[in-house]
Amino acid sequence: MTSVLTPYDDAAPASQALFARGREVTPGGVNSPVRAFRAVGGTPRFMAAGAGPWITDVDGRRYLDLVCSWGPMVLGHAHPAVVETVREKASQGFSFGTPGEGEVLLAEEIVSRVDAVDQVRLVSSGTEATMSAIRLARGFTGRSKVVKFAGCYHGHVDSLLAAAGSGIATFALPDTPGVTGAQAHDTIVLPYNDVAAVEAAFAEHGDDIAVVITEAAAANMGVVAPRDGFNSELARIAHAHGALLVIDEVMTGFRVARGGWLELEARAGAAFTPDLVTFGKVMGGGLPAAAFGGRADVMAHLAPAGPVYQAGTLAGNPIAAACGLATLQHCTPEVYSHLDTTAATVGRLVSEALTAEGVAHAHATAGNLFSFFFSPEAPRDYDQARTQEAWRYAAFFHAMLDRGVYLPPSAYEAWFVSAAHDDEALGRLAEALPYAARAAAQAHPDVAKEYA
Ligand SMILES: *Cc1c(COP(=O)(O)O)cnc(C)c1O
Repeated sequence: MTSVLTPYDDAAPASQALFARGREVTPGGVNSPVRAFRAVGGTPRFMAAGAGPWITDVDGRRYLDLVCSWGPMVLGHAHPAVVETVREKASQGFSFGTPGEGEVLLAEEIVSRVDAVDQVRLVSSGTEATMSAIRLARGFTGRSKVVKFAGCYHGHVDSLLAAAGSGIATFALPDTPGVTGAQAHDTIVLPYNDVAAVEAAFAEHGDDIAVVITEAAAANMGVVAPRDGFNSELARIAHAHGALLVIDEVMTGFRVARGGWLELEARAGAAFTPDLVTFGKVMGGGLPAAAFGGRADVMAHLAPAGPVYQAGTLAGNPIAAACGLATLQHCTPEVYSHLDTTAATVGRLVSEALTAEGVAHAHATAGNLFSFFFSPEAPRDYDQARTQEAWRYAAFFHAMLDRGVYLPPSAYEAWFVSAAHDDEALGRLAEALPYAARAAAQAHPDVAKEYA
């Protein structure tokens, strides 16, 4: 059966060999689960190099990259000015465990871009950013419970992995072994985009809720934009009960606009201010850098200014900070308008190809973030998202891969473009799409079950 979906693995002998070796020494052969291609089957491609919108695997095959390292490569791979900055910084030493100028510059850049952020603390991953923001919110409020939304991903923080059972004020069971019942007990999982469920949870547990955390726009169950006013309602309800609101901009931040999703909402007339905001991905430009920040009086509770402990040996690493700063400095208004247009063009091309083959689908967007659902309507929450014919995606994915287009290896991930995605890149996409749309049309659910 595997051969039906993955007839092209034979064309990737070097990836196959490395995957076999990797599995000997690393669980599942990968260092982050989605990379293993479990949702689509076949052998993950081991990438060796990238330039602009192109990536080349260890077998020497070149792909148009529509993952862009899940967002960070917003300028494209190996952007010359960013490479030069990193080279120069590296030649001056890697890490000192002391403060450095780069951290101040990067923090200033973030603060200048995001109105809600008076101060930031730099960390090394989005997971650390959300974990620390939750700890800070608990320390600040003296409360324990966290409200999160089903289908929202905030990194692999114990208390935020719980995502079981929607329904009002469900106390989640741990979603993964290793997360204790106590951690899950403090997490309330609600359906996304459901203000009434939030009201009900606060009516019951309002005095115990420290914080509501939400993706600025959900993009880890496929892209599901917040309904108009959803985020500002969260701010209103949380604040009415003395809880904080954390907007997780790890994916949206500095990608959908200069000031992230919050800027798009402000432009559309929303008037709310989250207490804390988390960042990652784009702000590191491909090196490990992330951050959380927000209200000065809340951030003042963080050590050494305040009692809530948080630290990192490599936090604010000089090379990562310089890479992130150089990346952000090159994210000009022209870059944002290019990302917007390119994302829209990709969406239109994919939609046209699927329509031509009669494949029911929805092109879901949140600013310039986008993904496709193999269902007639774009979903509003996780339960709806999961009703799609995700099995069509495996066939679609492999047909694209064979024709040199690298898509996210899961139907539930956003697609990413960069400032370097040009006409040649779109040409490669347009050439590949008719085959992939046909493969999606001809796909069969039983084949995909193997990978479920
Ligand atoms: C990627 C992501 C994270 C986790 O970031 P890592 O750097 O992978 O730990 C957190 N929140 C959101 C919204 C993300 O997309």
